[in-house]
Amino acid sequence: MTSFVNVLLAQNTDRLFTYKVPPHLDTTVAVGNTIVISFRNRSMQAFVVEFTNEPDYENIKDIVSVLDLPLVFTKDQVQIAHTISDYYLCSFLSALYLFLPPGMDKRDKKINQEKVKFVSFNMPVHAVNNFVKEYESNQRTSQMAQVLKSIMLAGGTIPLSDLPKSSSLRTLIKKNIITIEDVLVSRMPENAGKSIGQGIAHGLDLTGDQHKVITEIIESSKDFFLLHGVTGSGKTEVYLRVIEHVLSQGKSAIVLVPEISLTPQTLARFYSRFSTQVAVIHSSLTPKERRRQWLKIQSGECRIVVGARSALFSPLRDLGAIIIDEEHESSYKQDSTPRYHAVTVAGWMAKQVGAKLILGSATPALERYYFAQKGVIEKLSMPSKVKPTAPSEIVVVDMRKEQESGNHGSFSKEMVHHIQDTLKNGEQIMLLLNRRGFAPFVICKTCGHKLVCPHCEVTLTLHNDNVLYCHYCGYKAANKPLCPQCQSIFFRYSGVGTQKIEQELASFFPNIRVLRMDRDSTRTIGSLEAILSRFSAGEADILIGTQMIAKGHDFDNVGLVGVISADVALNLPDFRAAERTYTLLSQVAGRTGRRGKAGKVVVQTYNPDNYSISLLLENNYQKFYDEEIMFRQALDYPPFARLCRIIMQAHSQKALSELAEKIDKYLEINRFEDLQIFGPMPAPISKIAAKYRWHIIIKSKSIHSIQKVVKSLKLIFVEYEKSIKWLIDVDPANIL
Ligand SMILES: [Zn+2]
Ligand SMILES: [Zn+2]
Ligand SMILES: [Zn+2]
Repeated sequence: MTSFVNVLLAQNTDRLFTYKVPPHLDTTVAVGNTIVISFRNRSMQAFVVEFTNEPDYENIKDIVSVLDLPLVFTKDQVQIAHTISDYYLCSFLSALYLFLPPGMDKRDKKINQEKVKFVSFNMPVHAVNNFVKEYESNQRTSQMAQVLKSIMLAGGTIPLSDLPKSSSLRTLIKKNIITIEDVLVSRMPENAGKSIGQGIAHGLDLTGDQHKVITEIIESSKDFFLLHGVTGSGKTEVYLRVIEHVLSQGKSAIVLVPEISLTPQTLARFYSRFSTQVAVIHSSLTPKERRRQWLKIQSGECRIVVGARSALFSPLRDLGAIIIDEEHESSYKQDSTPRYHAVTVAGWMAKQVGAKLILGSATPALERYYFAQKGVIEKLSMPSKVKPTAPSEIVVVDMRKEQESGNHGSFSKEMVHHIQDTLKNGEQIMLLLNRRGFAPFVICKTCGHKLVCPHCEVTLTLHNDNVLYCHYCGYKAANKPLCPQCQSIFFRYSGVGTQKIEQELASFFPNIRVLRMDRDSTRTIGSLEAILSRFSAGEADILIGTQMIAKGHDFDNVGLVGVISADVALNLPDFRAAERTYTLLSQVAGRTGRRGKAGKVVVQTYNPDNYSISLLLENNYQKFYDEEIMFRQALDYPPFARLCRIIMQAHSQKALSELAEKIDKYLEINRFEDLQIFGPMPAPISKIAAKYRWHIIIKSKSIHSIQKVVKSLKLIFVEYEKSIKWLIDVDPANIL
């Protein structure tokens, strides 16, 4: 019987094509192979995606040849791509592209364009392959074969800088086999430079909890684990031991961390334990470094991949474990198509290949904890720290009373007092305010109008360079506003951002050394690492920052964590507001009281009675969970129902309301079962970057019902394709 395959062209396509496998290649062709095909009378490189039935049209062309290159993806990965496409309602190819080697996805948006010299073939690739065979057979020409294979591996074209400088290149150009040309590509940041510490002790004694948990993971027949361990309970050591076990079985492991640059200490421990077997994938790698890492992983030289979300799609073979640290972090959800969540996809992958999935967190995502309670995921607990400390003293300050007593500044008397004390003890302080800039509101003194960005329905923020910024679209304007309502030129600046805190702090404590860490102060590559290492070295007394400072860095000498306002996230119209608030506050509170000393936490709020703040005092996740899960159940929010959000964006309000009317009518006539539909209606942030935003929220217990209604709505959207851009977000991280 003849077999047929669907193939993906190595360059610039948005669909698959079917080819026939000729009898002499029948035993050679496999999923993930790089092959040569004839496409529109040109010889081109392509990848075998899957075997398929004989199509019902004639003249199917034969595969020309199979190239001797590493497999680009596996059958299992293709299966996962299908699952991603079905579940997240995105195209199969957009899901498959997740697995392709770096540089293959030529659809990448060109942001910062730059001219780069590219090497490509001057002849059909099957002809090149003949040269490869010829050159390989001779010691003297084998380097030329190597160069040609590198180009093939990159899909037929490769930056000149990625090839080793050699005489082979010149010879190949002279022989007219390859050619060099200028191509516009997007500019990637340079290597951030790792600041990896050395000399970390191996084989530390395990605590009883660690021992129990490791044994459970390794010996249990279960596959999914939620490791609920308080900050400092030694989760990383558990990961390391599980990986040691996985390696000893000849298997490999993936470790996801929320953001590589924020976790240098965790990375250091992986390097020190497994040295060259670790491949690290992060956003500041150059394309060349990325490709090198990909090859090291593909060839089996590296069997442990540590990285952010996208490391999940590494070409590891014999996967034994996927570990996701800080699994509650929002960075695990991708905010462009395909809008997948790494935890969800990791679950499918683990199941597909029989690997163990270990999710670790001190404050698990509510949904995950729910499934752990129900026994769907195995719950493991590490409730105490490796080095027992007295619990941190947590103080909640009611800012309403502070206002009544005439203090209108950002610092309560209590906060100032604790800062003084801590400084006197020679300890360091971290201050959290999850809002950057100087003043987030610019309000007309005459009519009370709040200035908003001309392109977005978002207030403008004053920065300390006396410029007004929009944090959504990047719009900026000199701070000389004219009120659009009443033409007044008198404004007051309200609210606080990290920059204002920096200034106010200087007025209380003129001689202290302060560092600020937020998106504005960490724009340049390496600046974030620099701030962290300076604070760690004691070069500053106080570190002010946004949520960035709450993540996994260990500082030995932090005696006080102050939260300037616990209410920033709480006031957003989003059902996850309480969860986000509780998680952020517990995380930042965990930054103090390490290394044996008890620490202090001072939290300022206008909502001291809200359970996401008051329960912080008890430091009891279970209690918070019990409260929050009741709220979710009462309103039928996840995990009790699934959400799907369709966002529609257009330059004209009129087009949107027209479409909305049409959808309303359609939904009136066509009743869908087992689901609730809200909207179409303007989104809470109703305009971004000059585009109006409307959304539809679909809620259902059944993902199939959601898929059904989305598929039929798509038919209506298609009519408006020209004027309205729409996107589908299954399990949205927020609904703003
Ligand atoms: Zn800003
Ligand atoms: Zn006004
Ligand atoms: Zn804007």
